[in-house]
Amino acid sequence: MPDANHDTDADVDPGSLRTPIVAVLGHVDHGKTSLLDKIRGSAVSEGEAGAITQHIGATAVPLDTVSSMAGDLVMADDFDLPGLLFIDTPGHHSFSTLRARGGALADIAVLVVDVNDGFQPQTEEALDILRRTGTPFVVAANKVDTTPGWNPKPDSPVKQTYDAQSDRARQRLDENLYEIIGQLSDAGFSADLYWRVQNFQGNIGVVPVSAMTGEGVPDLLAVLMGLSQRYMKNEMEIDLGGPGKGTVLEVKDEKGFGATLDVVLYDGTVTEGDRIVVGGVEGPIVTEVRALLRPRALSEIRTEQEFERLDSVQAASGVKLAAPDLDDAMAGAPVRVVRGRPLEDVIEEVEAELSEIEVETAEQGVVVKADTLGSLEAMANALQEAEIPILRAEVGDIAPRDVAVASTANEAENRVILGFNVDVLPDAERELDRQDVRLFNHDVIYQLVEDYEEFVEERQREQQ
Ligand code: GDP
Repeated sequence: MPDANHDTDADVDPGSLRTPIVAVLGHVDHGKTSLLDKIRGSAVSEGEAGAITQHIGATAVPLDTVSSMAGDLVMADDFDLPGLLFIDTPGHHSFSTLRARGGALADIAVLVVDVNDGFQPQTEEALDILRRTGTPFVVAANKVDTTPGWNPKPDSPVKQTYDAQSDRARQRLDENLYEIIGQLSDAGFSADLYWRVQNFQGNIGVVPVSAMTGEGVPDLLAVLMGLSQRYMKNEMEIDLGGPGKGTVLEVKDEKGFGATLDVVLYDGTVTEGDRIVVGGVEGPIVTEVRALLRPRALSEIRTEQEFERLDSVQAASGVKLAAPDLDDAMAGAPVRVVRGRPLEDVIEEVEAELSEIEVETAEQGVVVKADTLGSLEAMANALQEAEIPILRAEVGDIAPRDVAVASTANEAENRVILGFNVDVLPDAERELDRQDVRLFNHDVIYQLVEDYEEFVEERQREQQ
């Protein structure tokens, strides 16, 4: 067995190919979390030292582990990418939040679709985002184990399982799979069962899987690995020792450290003591890395949330970064190491990335508040498509000032705040009543659009 210990964070790898970053998207309850759990669980049960490394916000599955999980489907010698890094937070919300240099942070995505349930609103939303960001993806047609008459064969590739089923079971599954392939085609994507796809460039492979039994998980890993190796290798070539670049997943208070950043690093290296520039609510924040933290290996944990300190972290990885002055840092914002470059240049780059999200505003319209830059952008796009004008759009919780802004919009239908995944500050709650401003707060974008449209219709009926 080749050396499976790819602890690239501890001992810096001199190579120049980084791990592709994978995101998992799909409609609620279609099995995103279960699939991630299964991938992690299967990797752990391979039982090798370093089978997986738990990062902050991400799980690294090294090539050797992918290879032993996927058997004949992935021969480690055919690959030189180090493995796959799965972002732990599933969902298109987190996907659109996670940007890098104006594009998606994830290099590749898995769109999970329940075989019985087919396309649902969030499937469509996810497809829109994947199309807009030009992210290559595979479809995991999940829950094949629920097909009547299907006999799970968890340890063999799903293609073999498929061939071994009774005609009846295969036919039943086929009907559902072809429905999904048809829906993908209606959405403008050419797709087929993955073993029939010759060229994955522009053609979507559909992999039947079960997050419950594990069927198809080896196939899925093989397709992801193959896609990355064949079509994305150039993009994975980076200067691993260069100044680190990353995206903030979350800003979190951590005992003993104050505000910290959970970051996915997609380029270069971050070292303790590095000066960094981070996107903040009021603009770029310049600070210095006090500590780089990662969860301790499961076997070493005595209490929940124990961290180990690292001197240095290399892309691609997830890491918690402790530094002063991070209270105003924004989820979804860029983080850049200054090392070897003029500070002003780095500040300018961060400013440029922050201003990429330009929302078209109108004289009258709704006020939009969202938790991250990425979600604000996704909201703005959805509202634009629904032809709902925006007066103002900002990242942050709902404050009294937002209510005041919303109430200056003259028409009743625009005296509205649409909040996406944000809190309402206590003072703002009171103002909402006083100023007769309606608030819709939700963590599903299409729901917000629907709520608003219903509200407008109601108002119009009242006026007639
Ligand atoms: P998410 O909302 O997309 O993250 O979906 P979850 O992973 O939470 O799964 C939703 C429900 O579907 C849970 O009750 C899971 O146990 C179930 N589920 C997920 N994957 C499978 C599968 O492959 N087979 C079956 N039978 N159930 C599944």
